[in-house]
Amino acid sequence: MTPRHLTVAAVALLALAWAWLPEFTVTLLNYIALYALVAVGLVMLTGVGGMTSFGQAAFVGTGAYATAWVCVSPLSSAALTGLLPPALWPWLGLLLGLALTAGLAWGLGAITLKLSGHYLPLCTIAWGLSLYFLFGNMDALGGHTGIGGLPPLLLAGLSLASPRSLGPLIWAVLLLSLWMLHNLLDSREGRAIRSLKNGRVMAESMGVNTARYRVKVFVLAALLAAVSGWFYAHLQRFVNPTPFNLNIGIEYLFMAVVGGSGHLWGAVLGAGLITLLKARLQDILPHLLGRSGNFEVIVFGLLMLVMLHRAADGLWPIMARLSRRWVKAPAAATPMQHAPWPQPALAAPGAVLLETRGLTKRFGGLVANDAVSLTVLAGEVHALIGPNGAGKSTFFNLVSGVDEPCAGDVELLGQGMTGRAARSFAQLGLGRTFQHVRLLGQRSVLDNVALGAHRLGRHGWLAAMLRLDRAEEAALLAHARLQIERCGLSGWADLPAASLSLGQQRTVEIARALAGGPLLLLLDEPAAGLRHLEKQALATLLKQLRAQGLGILVVEHDMEFVMNLADRVTVMEFGGVICRGTPAQVQADHRVREAYLGVGVDDLQGPET
Ligand code: ADP
Ligand code: MG
Repeated sequence: MTPRHLTVAAVALLALAWAWLPEFTVTLLNYIALYALVAVGLVMLTGVGGMTSFGQAAFVGTGAYATAWVCVSPLSSAALTGLLPPALWPWLGLLLGLALTAGLAWGLGAITLKLSGHYLPLCTIAWGLSLYFLFGNMDALGGHTGIGGLPPLLLAGLSLASPRSLGPLIWAVLLLSLWMLHNLLDSREGRAIRSLKNGRVMAESMGVNTARYRVKVFVLAALLAAVSGWFYAHLQRFVNPTPFNLNIGIEYLFMAVVGGSGHLWGAVLGAGLITLLKARLQDILPHLLGRSGNFEVIVFGLLMLVMLHRAADGLWPIMARLSRRWVKAPAAATPMQHAPWPQPALAAPGAVLLETRGLTKRFGGLVANDAVSLTVLAGEVHALIGPNGAGKSTFFNLVSGVDEPCAGDVELLGQGMTGRAARSFAQLGLGRTFQHVRLLGQRSVLDNVALGAHRLGRHGWLAAMLRLDRAEEAALLAHARLQIERCGLSGWADLPAASLSLGQQRTVEIARALAGGPLLLLLDEPAAGLRHLEKQALATLLKQLRAQGLGILVVEHDMEFVMNLADRVTVMEFGGVICRGTPAQVQADHRVREAYLGVGVDDLQGPET
């Protein structure tokens, strides 16, 4: 049995049993689906995207109040009468709710998602509270009393007034959402979303506009919450502010965390468990304590502490592990055979790919780069060497848009790039690796490398959700596999990146940079941690790339490696260039000898290697 069989069986069972389930169970199941819709948005936002929100209940409220206002308020009734049959009013309410929520989330996201660390969660609390009080204080929304008398939903002439008739629609929407989100995560766009949590600097260097992706994930989560609110309003046929307050916002987050915030189905599990537990506790606790009150909150708080201690990843991974005896992991999809991505046109040999003039970077009083001027030509390997702290990595960051220079210019393919974002450099054909490896350790090598090819793809979120991107995705993955093969890592393609040795992880970074089809490659200490044979293989690969016409700028401490490979060498010390020339010229230069503490020239080595 595979997870897919299990899902189909569970859904079929639920569908068959639905008509015979007791009323109470049907109501509970409806609420579980409603909560799961919000929680699955939080899984995308928090577990996958790395942004914590306590304020989702406010978006549920926006969805609920929008439809209530459209269907019941005298103002909208007067405007709609004669214009639209009343049966369609709730659907107009849904549209209004989605539009309002999208606008609100986009605005709030654009302002608050720039904040990092604990400021973002704090802000979500602030706007969660604000919206809650807004609902309660707007006369048009009925103040704290709320709005009653909402009509039931009508679908194809069928009234969905009872929980038993509305439930299947709610569950259908939940299952459809799960399917679409699963598809989204299993795509080029999904790889970019997964990089938001721990790899934003890296993803920007692969051409991903991470700020935009963060806002989009935020809007997506808010829209799911608004749909839940819309259903809620037409299930209850009454709205007031209470279900949209901060407590409930925290409960939604709790559901996602308990279920497993990194897993879409964790949202359903969490929503189910918390809803059932809450119902039981509300029965039992007043008896036990002899008083009524929201005592379940205390139990939830304690439970949260235990969870975070014992199972920080939530219950879904634990369940998946326990069920492995009966449920087989789905067979890894056999890679679709596909013609690899066409190699982008390279620049003519000798053309200037990168040129910097007087590039300067200061960190406080420290001048890390002091007026560095340098060119990299197509079809050459240009080595940048110098002792630790000389400013080589800083230079890499300046010429790849990761950091901004204090003075000086950067030109890439003749275009002025000073002050532009890393993704613009990537879009023009700059590929880079990082000295401190930046991989998504839990994702496969293939996934990591395919992220490098992000800039080549075109399909957006909706296409990915509806599986319209499959041909492009297959081509991108074939292209990524080819780069992995080229770098000699074929046997590792489907393993988590973190399981490779550090040297191999550096090579994965090279494959990822190559996947973007670069014209210019920046490699920061690519040979560090490689064994002798691996270094030779790397040198062969770089020579091949050079022969194809790529320009390569490489920082490396292994002098044998550098001197055998480089066409030109630039030596830096204390942020400035002290020497440049062919390997032979540089090895003969007395300043270079001094910089390297008088180490024999034949085996020039950085003192730290
Ligand atoms: P290299 O790569 O040649 O070893 P770096 O470019 O990493 O050298 O560092 C050059 C100098 O700039 C070092 O003294 C380092 O401590 C300093 N430096 C680098 N990045 C930062 C930063 N973000 N903030 C402050 N100082 C930095
Ligand atoms: Mg460095």
